[in-house]
Amino acid sequence: MTMRMRACQHCQESFELASTGRPPKYCSSTCRKNAWHEEKTRQQVAAAVAAERRRIADALGLTAEAGDPA
Ligand SMILES: [Zn+2]
Repeated sequence: MTMRMRACQHCQESFELASTGRPPKYCSSTCRKNAWHEEKTRQQVAAAVAAERRRIADALGLTAEAGDPA
């Protein structure tokens, strides 16, 4: 039986793939949870930065030419 290995997308650790089912991206449920949490935090930070940037532009009266090209 051949073992297929895969690198965890969170901790980069190699782990064995089960021969059946959908191949997981993470070596453990802990990594999956942590990766999910980090992604959520990243999105919250990005949203907060965008809102703050809008607020500052608004306060400066720069809303017409808002920010950098996305
Ligand atoms: Zn991992």
